[in-house]
Amino acid sequence: ADLYGVSAWGQGLVHVLPNGDVALADPAENGATVPVSLPAILEGLNERGIATPILLRVQSFLEIGLRRLNDAFSNAIAATEYRGDYRGVFPIKVNQQAEVVGRLVQAGQPYHYGLEAGSKPELIVALAQPLAEQSLIICNGIKDDEFIRLAILSLKLGFRTVIVLESLKEFEIVKRVSDELGIKPLLGVRVKLTQVVTGKWASSSGDRSSFGIGADQIVTLVERMRETGFLDCLVLQHNHLGSQVPNVIDVRRTVTEACRFYSELRRLGVPLAFLDMGGGLGVDYTGEKRASDNSVNYTVDEYAAAIVETVGYAMDEAGHPHPTLVTESGRFVVALSSMLIFDVLDATLYGVPQRPDLTENEHHFLHDMVAIEEYVKPGRLQECFNDAVYYRDEIRALFRRGQMDITQLATAERCFLYILKRVQTVIRENGAGEALSEALEGFVDYYHCNFSLFQSLPDVWAIDQLHPVIPLQRLNEQPTRRAVLTDITCDSDGKIDSFILGDGIHKSLPVHDLEEDKPYHIGVFFVGAYQETLGDLHNLFGDANVVTISLTGEGGFTIEHETEGDTIAEVLSYVEYDPGDCLDAFRKTVERAVAKGTVNSAERRSLIAAYKDSLGGYTYFE
Ligand code: PLP
Repeated sequence: ADLYGVSAWGQGLVHVLPNGDVALADPAENGATVPVSLPAILEGLNERGIATPILLRVQSFLEIGLRRLNDAFSNAIAATEYRGDYRGVFPIKVNQQAEVVGRLVQAGQPYHYGLEAGSKPELIVALAQPLAEQSLIICNGIKDDEFIRLAILSLKLGFRTVIVLESLKEFEIVKRVSDELGIKPLLGVRVKLTQVVTGKWASSSGDRSSFGIGADQIVTLVERMRETGFLDCLVLQHNHLGSQVPNVIDVRRTVTEACRFYSELRRLGVPLAFLDMGGGLGVDYTGEKRASDNSVNYTVDEYAAAIVETVGYAMDEAGHPHPTLVTESGRFVVALSSMLIFDVLDATLYGVPQRPDLTENEHHFLHDMVAIEEYVKPGRLQECFNDAVYYRDEIRALFRRGQMDITQLATAERCFLYILKRVQTVIRENGAGEALSEALEGFVDYYHCNFSLFQSLPDVWAIDQLHPVIPLQRLNEQPTRRAVLTDITCDSDGKIDSFILGDGIHKSLPVHDLEEDKPYHIGVFFVGAYQETLGDLHNLFGDANVVTISLTGEGGFTIEHETEGDTIAEVLSYVEYDPGDCLDAFRKTVERAVAKGTVNSAERRSLIAAYKDSLGGYTYFE
């Protein structure tokens, strides 16, 4: 069966080959293509000197999110005879990498795909892109004079840059800058809706959300704009529901409320022509298709249909023209495009396959514990587990009181693990009740892996984000162990201990025994959204190597782009060390040791060479 649930969450992009390798393929809508084995890709990259951890991006996967989104809206528009267009924008914050933004802009040309800038630096990025003529640049966030000046001036170059007003005060800045420049701006207004959506980002919606203008102030704003002659500039209404909205009913409810505001503003004489529903389109990370933190109960087609239908219906009812629809769906567009791949370096194994040999001298609790073995059978597994835990805890208490020595304690711990292993073996063959399975999830192996959770998967640490995580090879072999994956930082938070499997979410990952001198690769999928720049330098682990490949369609791949991960010298400079100064200081310490006679000249050479090599090396295990 599909132990790892790949067919549920794989989106037609991730497959398992008969030889047990995990493979990537373009989706069916791109025409049938031959899947490419990920271990083979890694071997190829390794031959070219590109080591794990690697953030692997697949060019076509970057484009499918974009295409699925735009197709969903154009299909919904055609199906409902909606009399308006869709003009999506990519929120740069979701993945600011030049390569990603560049490719999306290029691939987005036919759709007049635009960009959303939430800050001055993001606007600077947007204005350096060859956007299609009809594409929008939507400016959100708090804006100063400089930001607003640049946005207004860019209209002169043909950019369609919309400044979304976050407050009444912001309008006054816009008015002043616009008067100074003698150029009228294109404006939007961020309306604070009262509907609260469910999910992790619930606080981005409703009365308590920090952004936007509520009903109490919006009429004041409109009147102020009318009296200053700026009402004609207000063409867009913006609403943002939060990210990863789990339930499509929330989408319909918020869009309905947004339409009421839109209709009323039109009634007040505001020439609105664009309705921007912000972000929220979620990714079904678990493949469960249900409304939960890491899954969504809708497809992109259903999301688009919910918006298009609701807006069309509301506008017909109110007698207004259908607006051009905008969404700022970033997560959906880029999440699938990349995966993090790392190796297991070592393991701390739980479970002793050998029955410990006991002598007459051992405490009777140890003999009692080993005797559990005789009744490890289906129907009595919970009882075996309870008994083993009881004896183990009694033995630990004896040790704490000084009534048992460390050698006996060690034997007792091994007896416990032996019984546990026996119980687990019977469970593997016959299954177990839920309570026992859950209790046993705590007794797992640790697989120590070459990556930093804080650098490469920050949301896993910060907000319990789940991504599909699987071994990339030997999936034709029954896994014999259950493991939690620990990272290379020396922080106990640096671990992945929640996994999406075919039958639900588990606290450990089924893995295989490690083999001498053979790599054991793990892949974390769908990490293209938010992770790259939210990551931090905990323990000074830097960026991983990033490689973009394209799949040839015939089972091969080509490297499109490569960015080497940070060297130690680079990471040091990010935190204000001068690597040259560090080297000088180290050199001086070595010279003092030479002067004292504790280091000879050969040692001096190797000390300095080792320090220099490390400065130029990868921050990860090499
Ligand atoms: N637009 C705005 C204003 C946002 O704040 C965000 C992020 O939360 C987005 C768009 C992106 O949303 P998503 O995560 O759905 O791509």
